[in-house]
Amino acid sequence: MEYAENILGTIGNTPLVKLNTLTKELPCLVLAKYETFNPGNSVKDRMAVKMIEDAEADGRLKPGGTIIEGTSGNTGMGLALAAIVKGYKMICVISDKQSKEKMDILRAVGSKVVVCPTNVEPDDPRSYYSTSKRLAEETPNSWYVNQYDNLSNTAAHYESTGPEIWKQTDGKVTHFVVGVGTGGTISGVGKYLKEQNPNIKIWGIDTYGSVFKKYHETGIFDENEIYPYITEGIGEDILPKNVNFDIIDGFIKVTDKDAAIYTQKLAKEEGMFLGNSAGAAVKGLLQLKDKFSKDDVVVVLFHDHGSRYVGKMFNDEWMRERGFIEDNAKSAADLISH
Ligand code: PMP
Repeated sequence: MEYAENILGTIGNTPLVKLNTLTKELPCLVLAKYETFNPGNSVKDRMAVKMIEDAEADGRLKPGGTIIEGTSGNTGMGLALAAIVKGYKMICVISDKQSKEKMDILRAVGSKVVVCPTNVEPDDPRSYYSTSKRLAEETPNSWYVNQYDNLSNTAAHYESTGPEIWKQTDGKVTHFVVGVGTGGTISGVGKYLKEQNPNIKIWGIDTYGSVFKKYHETGIFDENEIYPYITEGIGEDILPKNVNFDIIDGFIKVTDKDAAIYTQKLAKEEGMFLGNSAGAAVKGLLQLKDKFSKDDVVVVLFHDHGSRYVGKMFNDEWMRERGFIEDNAKSAADLISH
């Protein structure tokens, strides 16, 4: 018989899938590391389990404890699944810009959800950074995960995602392109791939309203770069310890509108029903066109599943309200030719 001991045993070993339509104008092979095949439907299952196991190993997390995290949803899902299997309680602190679907999904897997305002400074006591820290102080036998600065996050991708991509491409990967939030994915995969072949280029997808690109290019943390944006999961108004700027060759910024439109296009033209950071990543790839040549093998990582965005990028009313779609157009994806 062949079976996993529990649901956590199905994490990882996700497929690589060729993009056939949206990237036709690129000269190279584009392969998507398709992370929605993880049991929590996102890449974050990998780092959630690794962060928990490392905390168990050094005693930060004790039997029967409560796990507390500020999470946009995907990390919370991974942590919640692991908490169920391992017998912990789970509290997710989430900002109010996140989709209702994400909050409902977290509650469905037994997590408490605390919602905080998005448009406050990180050090404001109402922010989700501050609220998570405060809850951790107030809750007995609790552990605050802090995915931004917890380096087990990067380690998970160094140990699993990176080696999988190297093996699946038979060492032929030339570029890795991925959205950056906490930085765990890009830093772990990027470090592993550069150790195998230092010529591999690592590109981060950033959003308008985030500090990463400017900081990478100038070393300046420019507060003028920070303003509210719609894209979920990528971009930050802080510099997480998990972003290893040294292994990143460059960042490219994608607009909220383009990310939303390309998320629709991925579903309609590739049959890939994914979250908005996948749309941002594909548009970023197209913006990077000049960097690629014929024999390149470009791997792009798709973080999460479209079901979490049905009330947003997949809802034409929502798209219209934000000016992402013209009044007389059927849907945003019909508007743009590629
Ligand atoms: N896309 C989505 C949908 C995410 O939830 C995240 C995690 N914040 C990312 C991209 C970025 O991944 P990382 O945190 O590893 O940089």
